[in-house]
Parts: sequence; C-alpha cells; structure tokens
Amino acid sequence: RKSELNPESNVQFGEGGAGTFSDGKLWSQISDSRHLTRKVLSEFVKAGAPEEILYIAKPHIGTFRLVGVVEKMRAEIEALGGEVRFEQRVTDVLIEGEQMRGVTLHSGEHIAANHVVIALGHSARDTFAVLHKRGVYMEAKPFSIGFRIEHPQSLIDAARFGPNAGNAILGAADYKLVHHAKGGIANGRSVYSFCMCPGGTVVAATSEPGRVVTNGMSQYSRNERNANAGIVVGISPQDYRQDGLLQGPVNPLDGMAFQRFWESRAYELGGGTYEAPGQLVGDFLADRASTTLGAVEPSYKPGVHLTNLGERGRSSLPDYAITAIREALPAFERQINGFSAFDAVLTGVETRTSSPLRITRGRDFQSLNVKGLYPAGEGAGYAGGIMSAGVDGIEVAEALARALLSAA
Ligand SMILES: Cc1cc2nc3c(=O)[nH]c(=O)nc-3n(C[C@H](O)[C@H](O)[C@H](O)COP(=O)(O)OP(=O)(O)OC[C@H]3O[C@@H](n4cnc5c(N)ncnc54)[C@H](O)[C@@H]3O)c2cc1C
Repeated sequence: RKSELNPESNVQFGEGGAGTFSDGKLWSQISDSRHLTRKVLSEFVKAGAPEEILYIAKPHIGTFRLVGVVEKMRAEIEALGGEVRFEQRVTDVLIEGEQMRGVTLHSGEHIAANHVVIALGHSARDTFAVLHKRGVYMEAKPFSIGFRIEHPQSLIDAARFGPNAGNAILGAADYKLVHHAKGGIANGRSVYSFCMCPGGTVVAATSEPGRVVTNGMSQYSRNERNANAGIVVGISPQDYRQDGLLQGPVNPLDGMAFQRFWESRAYELGGGTYEAPGQLVGDFLADRASTTLGAVEPSYKPGVHLTNLGERGRSSLPDYAITAIREALPAFERQINGFSAFDAVLTGVETRTSSPLRITRGRDFQSLNVKGLYPAGEGAGYAGGIMSAGVDGIEVAEALARALLSAA
C-alpha cells in the first residue's frame, strides 16, 4: 500500500509463509490413499477454521482467518515442546562429506543438527543459491507464467449460474479453464486458469526489491466486486534460455534467473513504483497500449500502470506466452460469456506459480546426496499448494521419525 517492500516479511516470507496470505482454498488433486488431507483439514479445524471444511466439496477459509489459524498452530507447536524463532533466517548450511551437520542463522549463531527439514517455499532464492553452492543436488523444473485477469464477479456469476446468479446460497461462482494452444510459436502449450479467487483481490506478491509479481486472495465472504485468476502458460527448463535470455553454463537455478528477468521487466513496465503493469483485454488482443480503464476497476495495490503488455521488443512475457494467451482468451470466451470482454483487466506478472526447481530426494525423503537433509513442501518441488504442502510435511516428519528410531 505504501509502495515499500520489506524483503524479510511479505506475502512470501514470515509466520506461516505464503500460506498465511494465501486465498485459503483447501482442496488438492493429489492422490491420497492414506487420507492425509483429512488429517491436515482436522488440524485446521483444531486451530479455529470452520468445521464445514471437513465436508464441503471446495473448502475455503480466506486470508483473514488464516492469520489467526496460523497463530494457533504456533501455540500448539510450542505447547508440544517446539520453539519458533522469528527473524532468524538460515543463511548457510554445514555439510561434512555427505552428512548434514547444521545451519547458520543470519545473527551468526550456528545450530548443530544431523537432521534438518528445510521447507522454504518457492521464493527463497537466497537459500536455494546457498544450498546449490554447498553442493546439494537440485534440478530445474517446469512451472507456469502469465497474468492475473479481473472481471466483475457478477459477470462470472451470470455465466455460471444463469438466472440464479446472486442467490446467497450459491455464493460467488468460480471457474477452471484450460486451452491447448495450436498456432505459431505457442504450439502445444497449455494455458490455464490458476488460483481462481471469486470475490477477491489481486495482491502484490514480490519478495525482492525492484520486481513486481501478482497473485490473488480473498476473504471468507468472497464479496469483493471482482473475480480474479491467473491465466498462465506452462513452460519447461528448455524455455529458460530461449532468445539468449540467460548467460553462462546451464544450471539448476536458471528458472529463478528467468523469473527475476520478467519480474524486473514488470517493475519497469509498471513505472518503477511497485504498480503492476496492466492492460485491458481488448487492447491486449489488438496489440495496442491501454490508456484508460473501462468498467472494471483493478484491485491491485498500490495501483495499476496501463501499458502494452505484449509490445514486441519490450514485452512483459516471452513472445510464445503472449501468443498462447492471445489465443486462449477468445477460447475461454466460448466457455464464459464476457471472459474476453474489452474492459476486463490483465495485470502482471504471475511468475511464482510453483517452485522453479526441485531439491531432489530419495525414497527415504532425504536429499539425494546429503544425508540428514529433508527438503519439504513447495520450495523443494514436492507440493503445489497448502494441502499438498501439509501432506508432504507429514510424510517428511514420518520419514525423519523412522530414521531417528532406526538410529536409536
Ligand atoms: C497470494 C497467495 C495465494 C495463494 N492461495 C492459495 C490457495 O488458495 N490454496 C492453496 O492451496 N495454495 C495457495 N497458495 C500457495 C500456498 O500458499 C503455498 O503452496 C504453500 O504456502 C506452500 O507451503 P510451504 O510450507 O511449502 O511454503 P511457505 O508457506 O511459502 O513457507 C515457507 C517458509 O519458509 C520461510 N523461509 C524461507 N527461507 C528461509 C530461510 N532461509 N530461513 C528460515 N526460514 C525461511 C519463509 O519465511 C516461510 O515462512 C497461495 C499463495 C499465495 C502467495
């Protein structure tokens, strides 16, 4: 709101991580033969989430409630003997031979440990770099990039619920869209809606100065005027170096460098004030800069700077992504009337859809080449949301307990 970024405490970092500021949609498509998602949901209820999340099809608790839930989870961890240290970033790891020996905090304190779970989230770029420097095996992985799109929630409700739109029992409608691009340089790429937030807001999700990243969230009530969703294009490690974007030898941190490049470009296109670059869908499809907003007022704070997101030579995303999204929007219109309406608003860039790398583990959940290091959750490349990160956490904790017991 004040156009200031705190790199230590933001949407990505701080108590509860990205989870605290997330939209709080608590469903997942992971295969879950052991019903661990049920365990995760039960823990949420114990920490104050509404009981309905245990039985409704698409549980959602919203951002404000998550803050209190996370605080209660911390209290439970402390009651069980755990310790939570704030503002104690890990700045280095000590590895002897192939064995984890401990971590160093940015205060300089060293904590000795033969077993370390590292659950960094997808934006801990400094720590990824340290782990890489210390020789921890990791590999680049695919993720997706794109924009946020905003429509009036009433438009989505009308398309989804017809004459019943606005009925309080139905609440705010959501959508899930996919398009497989056919033409030109975008050939074969999938474009899909990501983290759709009915009645929500687009949020500033950067964690680094001089960069702009979008994401979405909503309150439990989902009663803000706009619906928003990421409209993103799948990319793979082969794409990171296209068009000479990155120099030097290929390395597992390439996806991170790729994200940084486009997030810095978004900052420039937004006018260098943390406003997000934005454009009306009609202008984006016609490849001309937007100069005035229409009926849709974008929700991103501190604001939106109108521009041409797809201008050749100064584009906000690689050309193949722009082409794919230009092809997908009219296709989505065929599923949701008004989706590519002239004055729907695009803001960018959406680059933190999942981790750009995987800290690869073996069957024992430990790093492939460092014993005692347990990479976990989204940053390790083994989860893509709150539920899957929670389930992964349980499995890592079980693996760690097994290792400790067998050593005892
Ligand atoms: C705006 C937004 C909306 C979202 N909406 C949803 C949604 O509706 N549903 C859903 O399922 N997912 C959603 N997500 C994604 C979800 O939040 C993440 O998938 C999930 O939080 C990943 O959990 P995690 O524990 O792996 O990592 P995180 O929650 O990112 O936690 C990582 C933690 O590690 C800490 N950390 C990082 N580096 C260090 C270090 N060097 N030393 C010490 N600590 C460190 C961070 O401060 C943070 O606390 C959303 C994300 C955002 C940003």
